[in-house]
Amino acid sequence: MGSHSARPQEDGAVRIAIIGGGVAGLTAAYELAGAGGAQVHVFENGPELGGLASGFKGRASWDWPLEKFYHHLFTNDDAIIQLTEQIRAGDLLEIHRPSTVMHFHGANYPLDSPAHLQRFPHGPCACLSQISPAAAVACV
Ligand SMILES: Cc1cc2nc3c(=O)[nH]c(=O)nc-3n(C[C@H](O)[C@H](O)[C@H](O)COP(=O)(O)OP(=O)(O)OC[C@H]3O[C@@H](n4cnc5c(N)ncnc54)[C@H](O)[C@@H]3O)c2cc1C
Repeated sequence: MGSHSARPQEDGAVRIAIIGGGVAGLTAAYELAGAGGAQVHVFENGPELGGLASGFKGRASWDWPLEKFYHHLFTNDDAIIQLTEQIRAGDLLEIHRPSTVMHFHGANYPLDSPAHLQRFPHGPCACLSQISPAAAVACV
């Protein structure tokens, strides 16, 4: 948002141009419009809003758009959850417990918590040897 775009017009109204309709641009537009006293315009280059966080439908028959990239938020991401409620989209937010298993020596082991890691019968070290060195270091 350039400083020139926030100059008052002859009629006294402040017009604000936001370049890009991704999450950042849309959130800024929402906050500025909510503050009142300004005309907010979002300019988006792409075919739809949302930027990296948007999705697409491969076929019109799809019930849901597929994310362009994987996305999640944490249950303690309070700001985005609060914003989701504010824009009355809270009922679209679904919190699922991820279910992750590792296939090891012919069996599946749940491995999505430190407790699971402790219970891994072959020992945590065997488990860590199956994942990348960087992930193993982060895990430790
Ligand atoms: C693989 C991947 C996974 C991710 N996973 C997560 C996750 O799990 N949780 C999470 O919180 N975040 C995640 N992120 C990050 C999150 O997607 C981005 O931080 C966020 O969407 C960025 O939003 P933004 O508005 O800053 O930018 P963008 O989404 O990039 O939006 C910028 C917009 O500006 C438009 N634009 C650019 N130039 C112009 C122009 N000159 N004129 C008009 N329009 C223009 C673009 O078309 C675009 O729509 C992930 C990102 C990636 C790549």
